[in-house]
Amino acid sequence: MITHVLGFPVIGKNREYKKMLEAYWNEKIDERELNHRSDQLRLFNWRAQKNAGMTYVSCGDFALYDHVLDTSMMLGAIPHRFGTWNEASEIPQYFDMARGNEKKNIPAMEMTKWFNTNYHYIVPEIEKGFTPKLCLKKLISEVDLALANSFSPKPVLVGPFTYLSLAKSAEGVDVWDSLDAIVDVYIDVLKQIGPKVDWIQIDEPILCQELGETALNRFLDVYESIRASAAPAKILLATYFDVVDDNLALLLGSGCQGIHIDLVAGEWDIDGLFDRFPKSAMLSAGVVNGRNIWRTDLDSALQTLKKVESAIGKDRMMIGSSCSLKHSPVDLAAETLLDATLKSWLAFAVQKLDEISLLESAMAENDIESQLREWRDATISRQNDQRTWDTSVREKTAHISDTQICRNNPYAVRCKVQNKAHSLGLLPTTTIGSFPQTSAIRSVRRQFKKGSINENAYRDAMRDEISSVIREQEVLGLDVLVHGEPERNDMVEYFGEQLNGFCFTRNGWVQSYGSRCVKPPIIYGDVSRPLSMTVEWTRFANSLTEKPVKGMLTGPVTIMCWSFVRDDIPRKEVCRQIAFAIRDEVVELEKAGIGIIQIDEAALSEGMPVKKRDREDYLHWAAECFRIATSGVKDDTQIHTHMCYSEFNHIMPAIAKMDADVISIESSRSKMELLDAFNTYEYPNEIGPGIYDIHSPRIPSVDEMVTLLRKALKHIPKERLWVNPDCGLKTRKWEEVRPSLANLVEAARIVRKENGSA
Ligand code: GLN
Ligand code: ZN
Repeated sequence: MITHVLGFPVIGKNREYKKMLEAYWNEKIDERELNHRSDQLRLFNWRAQKNAGMTYVSCGDFALYDHVLDTSMMLGAIPHRFGTWNEASEIPQYFDMARGNEKKNIPAMEMTKWFNTNYHYIVPEIEKGFTPKLCLKKLISEVDLALANSFSPKPVLVGPFTYLSLAKSAEGVDVWDSLDAIVDVYIDVLKQIGPKVDWIQIDEPILCQELGETALNRFLDVYESIRASAAPAKILLATYFDVVDDNLALLLGSGCQGIHIDLVAGEWDIDGLFDRFPKSAMLSAGVVNGRNIWRTDLDSALQTLKKVESAIGKDRMMIGSSCSLKHSPVDLAAETLLDATLKSWLAFAVQKLDEISLLESAMAENDIESQLREWRDATISRQNDQRTWDTSVREKTAHISDTQICRNNPYAVRCKVQNKAHSLGLLPTTTIGSFPQTSAIRSVRRQFKKGSINENAYRDAMRDEISSVIREQEVLGLDVLVHGEPERNDMVEYFGEQLNGFCFTRNGWVQSYGSRCVKPPIIYGDVSRPLSMTVEWTRFANSLTEKPVKGMLTGPVTIMCWSFVRDDIPRKEVCRQIAFAIRDEVVELEKAGIGIIQIDEAALSEGMPVKKRDREDYLHWAAECFRIATSGVKDDTQIHTHMCYSEFNHIMPAIAKMDADVISIESSRSKMELLDAFNTYEYPNEIGPGIYDIHSPRIPSVDEMVTLLRKALKHIPKERLWVNPDCGLKTRKWEEVRPSLANLVEAARIVRKENGSA
């Protein structure tokens, strides 16, 4: 039986990828060395796949920044500002597209999340007059490299329909006008690699979503020519991240010799699928989850595979990962410090290869009972482990009363008491939470973690920092102050480390974008909060000033979205547990005299399901979790939330259901495009559209911020407008933050005056 994975992590066992890219960007290594090291990483990946017994190794999935950008460059979709393509300088040009070029003052291409993962791709830009032609030939040379090293490559490409569906264009250009011309480039590539390989994988995850007119009309004929040009190689048409239902006829009717489906995402109607399954095609069953870290329950995977076998027979089956393994960490073997039982529950990319190979052996009826037993024991130990289960948590989340999901009074009543309680005038100024994290602060945190300084020394250092941040804000004249978050390494990790039910890896990195990797915590058990998490720091900050100090927490949805989540209970249940833990913290902050509390939901739109029809339900429970976290307080306690990284316009009504008194949203980079949403929808509570772009070292002038505020006032009544930056300031320098915030305070003063307030 054919075994394979849809893709493998690029980053290497020890993030060699990151080191390599950053060394190249800092001119420590040249292009030759960059190519050499990337080939080493490719070979490492292929060896891992081959040693584990995969029939084919994935090839072309290794990108120097992002695989969608590779596709753009393959097709010659290179925006004019980056110049014309020529082979000799394609690598610097590629990185200019990915990262921009400050020296030449060329902005980078846009980046956004790949479906509902935390991986970011570079959004294709289709310009007027775009004439596709084959430029980057990386896929072809990678096939040759694999063959030269005696691997059996299965080249992987992003399909034309997914590519164009994700592309954006300048006004007046219809990206679909390029369809035929880009398909010609695909054909050119396929003709070159077809004679060298058995199978070519073409990814069309877009089939899991709603397709546009042209895609619907053209899918079948385009795939017909794709198939013809790849011959004698066969095409494996791959979908993942959800079930395919609306577009099932396209998937099954494409005539492709192989079809891959993700059997761990969503509920497939297996019988319905096989009723219509093409007579001669092969099915690649994605039964090993590529985007989580849990060991596969091999027995239930086998059951699924047996079903497939009885429908189409063994010789028409392939066994694979559900999606690319790039979304999971590389190798569990590096986790030498993890509790042995917990570790036995996990499988990273290398272990997932073994799982696929074990499944193949089991299907071939080899005698592997002892290996299966080991896997089974781990699954059973996880099911029975006390640490995954906490009765008091279950009781709390099972019975939710109305008072636990609603504030006592609506916003219209609350706002009056709040303004009085906190003496807030018109257009109050505030920040989003963090202040610059200097190397001194980071070093204190590191020393404390290592044990080289004691708790008292750590606390003193943090208090010094908090005191100075409070002083800075008083001098600047901000209205609502923050403690600055010096004690936090990361807004999710900080809370995860203090909550029950979380564990952390040493080396469980996954690529987020380019060289940037993240190391998500793992939620393995019921979540509860043994002790307060932020109260001491916030109370201390509050004691230093007459001005209100805003408490600062991360919300349940964001904590969940940026973690690897347990798969034995529904996500919404996990989210609800976190919500109750945060609720306790909110109530305790209120008791400690903190009258304004912000709960960040930076990741709200990341949790959005792939399919439109599932989104309403998600937004409903996400908003409910936020309200669980925040409704334990009195009317005069003002709840803030903050969001960034995404377009929120279309989900404003859902955001309103969170019923935060105040929301701050990233918007300065888009010149307040956000406000367009208010033409058709009036956000009912207070809102602070960011007016200072914190992603840039640039200091915004008073004038430009005044302009933004005036623009905001056209859409938001003055009584409900706040003045704040786009996001936290932790990545900025004090030299940038001080003058920027001084300008922000001044801009607020000017606009306040224009609106009849002193
Ligand atoms: N409170 C956080 C900070 O200021 C928010 C970060 C974020 O939204 N990404 O750093
Ligand atoms: Zn933010």
